Amino acid sequence: MKCMYCQGEMKKSTAPFSISRQGYHIHWDAIEAYVCSQCGEPYFESETVDKIQAALSALEEKSKELIKI
Ligand SMILES: [Zn+2]
Repeated sequence: MKCMYCQGEMKKSTAPFSISRQGYHIHWDAIEAYVCSQCGEPYFESETVDKIQAALSALEEKSKELIKI
């Protein structure tokens, strides 16, 4: 797999992932990803993105009861 930005070699590794939602901020330190050995750009597989999305929607559901904005 080649990096879509610099055509560098993508290696299986981990990358941090963070996202801000209304009232809370999520940061994972190390999620499985392909990382460009040249520019460091991470690429998450669609299966991984699905898992991230599932985790976020579960969290969102529970957060509704907690967050008062
Ligand atoms: Zn690259």
